[in-house]
Amino acid sequence: MSSPLTFQPVLDRIAAEIEQTPGRGRPADYIPALAACDPRRFGMAVAELDGTVYGVGDWRQPFSTQSITKVFTLALDLAHEADELWEHVGREPSGNPFNSLVQLEYENGIPRNPFINAGALVVTDRLHTQTGDAAGTLLDFLRAESGNEHLAINEDVAASESAHGDRNAALAHFMAAYGNIGNPVPVLLDEYFRQCSVEASCADLALATGFLARHGIRADGSRLLTMSQAKEVNAVMLTCGTYDAAGEFAYRVGLPGKSGVGGGVIAVVPGRCTLCVWSPGLDGHGNSVAGVAALDRFTTITGLSVF
Ligand code: GLN
Repeated sequence: MSSPLTFQPVLDRIAAEIEQTPGRGRPADYIPALAACDPRRFGMAVAELDGTVYGVGDWRQPFSTQSITKVFTLALDLAHEADELWEHVGREPSGNPFNSLVQLEYENGIPRNPFINAGALVVTDRLHTQTGDAAGTLLDFLRAESGNEHLAINEDVAASESAHGDRNAALAHFMAAYGNIGNPVPVLLDEYFRQCSVEASCADLALATGFLARHGIRADGSRLLTMSQAKEVNAVMLTCGTYDAAGEFAYRVGLPGKSGVGGGVIAVVPGRCTLCVWSPGLDGHGNSVAGVAALDRFTTITGLSVF
């Protein structure tokens, strides 16, 4: 499709199609505070580079961002320490579930990539060392980029994650044993669970992702990442952003994307726009069923993809 393109009719069409689609998957139940979400909820937003936002359905409803925040902590840490991060976390798809422990021992406590939980724990640990307040730095950034001062951490969700966080604790302790965690593990886990528990809407997250479509430039025109770093983050999103379903996501959607178990998915059309879709029913990989379907429809209808 040629520019200028108003995205509203495309979103309306996708929402109508999704409405007709049975089978939405199931909300995450390993975090009890998320289990109560209604899988029929659906929202989608598209933000253009200048901050114009289009939306449909529940696009202004805040939801639990969860692993979507891993993109922002990665970008913020790269902005602080640049390539040194890559000595502590890899950039290869893991082919394993997001909370898997198995590769860590073979690979000496260096996680495969920053988007599986192990890798995100390393990133948050390093961002915390750089800033003294990883979750606060993330929240400030999301507020600034979305223009929404009301974005906040849901402390009940953070407490629920903490109470059921044995796997993440195991990952953090294991990596600490390899010297790959700098802060005390309880401090890191607290930052990580609070990071995951930030609530934001599709509109907020589509806007906050804008710097990745603007090749590293923030909403206020300042630069967060170099052009190469923005390209690198997009590349890692494409290859690792949806865990052991990243190949299928690239095949169906054809965009850098990042999912979270709250049911949100963000995606980037570099140089053009950013998207966020939310529907809390998940597939077996922890990706939103209706969310991935909606992004699939978006790139099919508009032809906007990186391929
Ligand atoms: N807070 C979740 C966890 O650590 C995030 C996982 C996800 O969204 N995939 O298990």
